[in-house]
Amino acid sequence: MQLPHLIGLAQAELTDFGAGLGEPPFRARQLFAAIHRRRLLSFAEMTDLPKELRAKLSEQTVISTLTLESRYLSSDGTRRYLFKTSDNLPVETVFIPEERRDTICFSSQSGCPLQCTFCLTAQLGLLRNLTAGEIVEQIIVALNDAYGAGVKAPRGTNLVGMGAGEPFLNFEALMKAIRIMAEPSGLYIVPNRVTVSTAGVVPRIRELATIPDRPHLAVSLAAAADELRDQLMPINKKWPLRELLSACKDFEKSLKPNERFTFEYVMLKDVNDADEQARQLANLLNRYELRAKLNLIPHNPAEPLPYHPSSTERVESFRAILESKGIHAFVRRPRGRDILAACGQLAARSVSEARP
Ligand code: SAH
Repeated sequence: MQLPHLIGLAQAELTDFGAGLGEPPFRARQLFAAIHRRRLLSFAEMTDLPKELRAKLSEQTVISTLTLESRYLSSDGTRRYLFKTSDNLPVETVFIPEERRDTICFSSQSGCPLQCTFCLTAQLGLLRNLTAGEIVEQIIVALNDAYGAGVKAPRGTNLVGMGAGEPFLNFEALMKAIRIMAEPSGLYIVPNRVTVSTAGVVPRIRELATIPDRPHLAVSLAAAADELRDQLMPINKKWPLRELLSACKDFEKSLKPNERFTFEYVMLKDVNDADEQARQLANLLNRYELRAKLNLIPHNPAEPLPYHPSSTERVESFRAILESKGIHAFVRRPRGRDILAACGQLAARSVSEARP
């Protein structure tokens, strides 16, 4: 039998669980704060709880379920964590330090069922959906490692659901994790600091728009024409660009005054980086008059992916065309490439394997 995984319980659920054990609500509050605010992952450290309660909890529950297998540190300061679930499946998380804030990129699935041809994670296939607890746990461990166990984050922490998996194919657990992390007595990372990226699961884009306290949305495009997008991102055959962009147009109504949503465009040398394709992309976004910005991501290579990153000059020319047509485009600097931590490189590899 699987023991309840405490990290995955919201404070209210923990209160109900505690009541079942005959504990008053303030004990559940203490326990929730111990796990989520103080980021303690062992009962032994929770010295404000009575010994008997801790003994009972350690018999009947588990706080955490992921095991940290490896941790890789990039020359640019990025950290990649490779965990194993209790059923021995890989989970990866990336901590990206930046000047004014730090970003944690978490995974929503072990592996991924989508078959984007430029992404290494696709090669794992879907292993399974992660639970809400497994999602929250990634963030707690990354924070403890980066700042010290339980140490208050010195800067704001942003979260991006851009690790392994398609977050919108694990929508319920994802949204639950986001709610747990937003609780003021816990991590207190509000949805406004969270961005979730989708390859284009149209019904969930529409659903997200209806959620009052929702995270920001990013959409991965990779191509501005169906023919090419069908090849690069087979999900396009199910939800082609017309349906995707009209869902985005509807989503736009839910944007706050200063909010925009983001499109991501991986730049593949000689595949989707020609000037003509920049014009096509600008025209597509302009046709829908979307309040969006565009992130250009030079392809992060990894064996055996059959692509190369576009040259700096090509990316610049592509970006300039977009800007000239009124689309705000930014080039995303790759982070953690040397430890296979950059976008599209998560495939549970150890770094020595990745090096020639
Ligand atoms: N499945 C979701 C979440 C993953 S986000 C999605 O597709 O949006 C990962 C981002 O990295 C996506 O925008 C994806 O298009 C991009 N990406 C994938 N492989 C890449 C690679 N090898 N180099 C650069 N970007 C890549």
